[in-house]
Amino acid sequence: MQIHERITGALWGTAVGDALGVPVEGVPRREMDSAPVSAMRGGGVHGQPAGTWSDDTSMTLAGADSLARRGWDPLDQLERFGRWAFDGAYTPYGVAFGLGRTTRAALRRFRDGVPPHACGGNDESDNGNGALMRAFPVAAWTRDGPPAVAVPILEGAAALTHRHPRSRLATVLYGLVVHRLLGARAGTPVPHVVGDAVAALDGPEVRQAISSDALEELPVFRRIVSGDLFRLHRDDVRSTGYVVDTLEAALWCLARGRSFRDAVLLAVNLGGDTDTVAAVTGALAGARFGSAAIPTEWVGALATPARLEAIIDAFADRVVAPSTKR
Ligand SMILES: [Mg+2]
Repeated sequence: MQIHERITGALWGTAVGDALGVPVEGVPRREMDSAPVSAMRGGGVHGQPAGTWSDDTSMTLAGADSLARRGWDPLDQLERFGRWAFDGAYTPYGVAFGLGRTTRAALRRFRDGVPPHACGGNDESDNGNGALMRAFPVAAWTRDGPPAVAVPILEGAAALTHRHPRSRLATVLYGLVVHRLLGARAGTPVPHVVGDAVAALDGPEVRQAISSDALEELPVFRRIVSGDLFRLHRDDVRSTGYVVDTLEAALWCLARGRSFRDAVLLAVNLGGDTDTVAAVTGALAGARFGSAAIPTEWVGALATPARLEAIIDAFADRVVAPSTKR
């Protein structure tokens, strides 16, 4: 499979996962079990039309658009996030939807003149999944760079809103997984892909590139690092908005899912932070299975598909362009 199809698959995958999860955001798992999601639904907890996507997709699009136009430019990333949060850019209906507490505070700091590297929340309570959910574009962007280049960009991308070392490490680990998914042969088992990423994290190149405070958070990710995650029963996988839970849940669903559809429905039906867990799973599953594996009825149901397509295609074109043009 061509890398272009994996990148567009990941971005469409983000949007469909998000939109499948929006109507059931916050619904507990036991309730999901009695009425599981299997198709795009309207209404639900936010009362939105079927196919409505939220902050996860908006911030992913803003980040992708920035990278395609400007390369890695933290100031431009934050400016576009601000246009989303305060002006309704990158939204289906002109209003930002799903903006989280830590992200809102960071974007307000930026608006008030705080420099980009100091805007993100840095308290232990600032470890929601708000940076992880939008991390695919920067992961794709850094895919063929050496760790000395890629790792600081991944950390910096998280820190724009989520500056705590745990959130930065989550984004680095996610990025290393995405780099390998984009290059993996079809059918490579997910635990192998994740194991390779963990081995890279433990290697000298990444160790030299990563911040020491981020690396100190590694024990928090022990179920991923050890591979025990892939042996867990569903009851032991948490699907909350905590960054570690979201990353674990998405990787678990990716490993369990035999297809794009299977992985994303597993994610939505875990309940909890359904839109973000399914958006992150959708990105990973899109990178694994490619855009052609995404059910056409899901893509067809998305709000404002032409605007999504313009940003998604421009970003994928830019990422696969020869590196001299980046
Ligand atoms: Mg959301």
